[in-house]
Amino acid sequence: MKKLEERLGANKYYVDETSPHIIIDGQHVSKEEAMKLVNGCPAGLYTLQDDGTLAFDFAGCLECGTCRVLCGNSIVKTWKYPKNAKGVEFRQG
Ligand code: SF4
Repeated sequence: MKKLEERLGANKYYVDETSPHIIIDGQHVSKEEAMKLVNGCPAGLYTLQDDGTLAFDFAGCLECGTCRVLCGNSIVKTWKYPKNAKGVEFRQG
């Protein structure tokens, strides 16, 4: 069985560096809310830092919407699909 990293690595990502499709407030977060995202994002894009802030990198996003559902009123401030044919292209269905 393939590892998660191998499966995610099979995808192609067209990243729009000029316009993040997800914007978060990672500065003022409760640990409980932050851990929802750390544990819930299937791509592992959220990381709780030692200083209590939440780091996020939208570049490997799978556009599943899980973070929006989990913390859309607290941490995730903007969530939209990438524009202009950017975003993820799935290679394994
Ligand atoms: S949409 Fe899905 S893959 Fe993208 S950051 Fe949110 S939880 Fe992670």
